[in-house]
Amino acid sequence: IDQARLGAALARLATTPASRILARPEQTALAALSGRSLPSRTVNGLLRPLLTALLSDPGLTTSSRCADLVLRGYARGRLCVPSGGSATLPDLLAAALPPGTVRTGVHVTAADITSVRTKEHGELGCRSLLLATGAGAAAELLPGLRVPSFHPVTVLHHTAPAPPPTGAALLLDADRSGPVAHTCVMSEVDPSRAPNGRTLITSTVLGTPPPHLDRSARAHLAALYGTSTDDWELLAAHHDPEAVPAMPPPHDLRRPVRLLAGLYVCGDHRDTSTVQGALFSGRRAAHAILGDLGIRSGSDVEAGLREAA
Ligand SMILES: Cc1cc2nc3c(=O)[nH]c(=O)nc-3n(C[C@H](O)[C@H](O)[C@H](O)COP(=O)(O)OP(=O)(O)OC[C@H]3O[C@@H](n4cnc5c(N)ncnc54)[C@H](O)[C@@H]3O)c2cc1C
Repeated sequence: IDQARLGAALARLATTPASRILARPEQTALAALSGRSLPSRTVNGLLRPLLTALLSDPGLTTSSRCADLVLRGYARGRLCVPSGGSATLPDLLAAALPPGTVRTGVHVTAADITSVRTKEHGELGCRSLLLATGAGAAAELLPGLRVPSFHPVTVLHHTAPAPPPTGAALLLDADRSGPVAHTCVMSEVDPSRAPNGRTLITSTVLGTPPPHLDRSARAHLAALYGTSTDDWELLAAHHDPEAVPAMPPPHDLRRPVRLLAGLYVCGDHRDTSTVQGALFSGRRAAHAILGDLGIRSGSDVEAGLREAA
């Protein structure tokens, strides 16, 4: 791979305004990638597997605009995970609110503008409702909401007697010689995720997992890491058939979050299917609620929202 050329292309993408990316013709990411005058080694050896990993989309059927935005995010910020696990982000957001504002572990069974029915606490009254679930649950609670198709994701967690010698690097499968799309020694990336200095290897399988998943993944991981995996132990395997909402072209990145005054919906299915997309849609919904409640721009809350942006 011509690293200098690739580095220059990524640096250009990092400084490209999002508005320019959104003005580009929209096709599938695969078609856009094939149409670029890049060496096939760069495309097949890096860009295709990287985009596959970033989008959880092995067929690269995602809108090329969304793919470029996600690749731009990678070029600007590189890859990262929240220290301590993905629950850290909502925990930090909740910690900024007055104590008792957020109740967790409450299952909502019905919702409308003035009340929410819960399994655990009966009915709770409300002035407005913002539904922030995944797309499937949102459509169950508010029938009529569009349900996209999804990219299934399976995550395997293995432990090993010693870490493979790849450090904190993310290994991408460019050869498609097994079920694993990407893998890393997570305990090298974030030691807090593995107890007592143990090694944790986290691997992702995209699409429908094959039968005998652990056996075929283990053989593939041995090839990717260049080490025997015979003495690795499978700690957990999580399969989510609705992991990532699909974003085929044409994709609307600004799906309405205000259904009517008092009723709002946010989540990755209203924006891009990423954590950033979920956060952007939440900010749009918060602005809509403030507007409907008559809280004018310039108030403390509005200033707080702008600062958070
Ligand atoms: C394995 C995996 C890996 C991923 N990797 C990445 C990545 O590397 N980068 C990235 O940007 N994105 C990644 N994503 C996608 C990212 O996690 C989602 O886009 C993001 O979490 C969406 O946020 P959200 O708030 O819309 O929905 P969620 O995070 O799904 O939150 C919805 C919440 O609603 C709750 N809920 C649902 N129904 C009810 C109900 N009836 N009552 C009460 N609560 C309910 C759920 O319990 C959940 O807590 C990944 C997703 C998966 C599954």
